[in-house]
Amino acid sequence: MAVDPLIELRDVNKYYGELHVLRDINLTVGKGEVVVVIGPSGSGKSTLCRTINRLETIQSGEIQLDGQPLPEEGKALAGLRAEVGMVFQSFNLFAHKTVLQNISLAQVKVRKRKKDDADQHSRQLLDRVGLADQADKYPAQLSGGQQQRVAIARALAMEPKAMLFDEPTSALDPEMINEVLEVMRQLAREGMTMVVVTHEMGFARASANRVAFMADGRIIEDRAPDAFFTHPESDRAKDFLSKIL
Ligand code: ADP
Ligand code: MG
Repeated sequence: MAVDPLIELRDVNKYYGELHVLRDINLTVGKGEVVVVIGPSGSGKSTLCRTINRLETIQSGEIQLDGQPLPEEGKALAGLRAEVGMVFQSFNLFAHKTVLQNISLAQVKVRKRKKDDADQHSRQLLDRVGLADQADKYPAQLSGGQQQRVAIARALAMEPKAMLFDEPTSALDPEMINEVLEVMRQLAREGMTMVVVTHEMGFARASANRVAFMADGRIIEDRAPDAFFTHPESDRAKDFLSKIL
């Protein structure tokens, strides 16, 4: 199946000092594809996400977004960040701003929307993530699952070309995980291009086009979820799956 590539990493290498954290990474995410990234702690999953968003520099290789090389600095970099939404384990909402203000802020500052237009868009997004009635609350008044849904709405408000999720449900109590995954499943169905670091294998099976398995800074398997889960090829993946499934 040939899909138009949206995110492309070619021979990417990244070091933290002496530590070689990303090793010869090659990864292509097509438009509308969902790639779930799994692997042991410390294997480089978060670094990979941060690299795609240029929160980290790389020492060699190339990253393209929609056919363009990633900008390294300046205005173009801010533009890139708006085009690739990112959702972290910790929700990172502004504590002293309401839910609505959290979602509207960057629309006004980065996308230069009028406040009223931004607020209207924010309310639509809140409706979409099931939080239409929470607009005037402050983050601390919401549950973790609700806060994470606000964080997703805030990222979507920039109308990104792709979304990166780094363990979005890992900090949540079990009963809240599903409400966040449901929003993500919906996004996937709507054709959003997504890179998702998660231990939620149900999500990977149901929503991912591919699973990329990382170990020691390398992607050592990159395959359809069914094939990966039923017949992992590498000993590292077999060992990892035996521990989490
Ligand atoms: P994962 O998300 O798979 O758990 P990370 O990408 O967070 O892995 O980390 C990969 C490796 O890089 C780990 O060995 C980690 O300790 C190291 N690392 C992560 N961030 C930094 C940093 N800012 N400075 C130095 N080393 C880091
Ligand atoms: Mg991580």
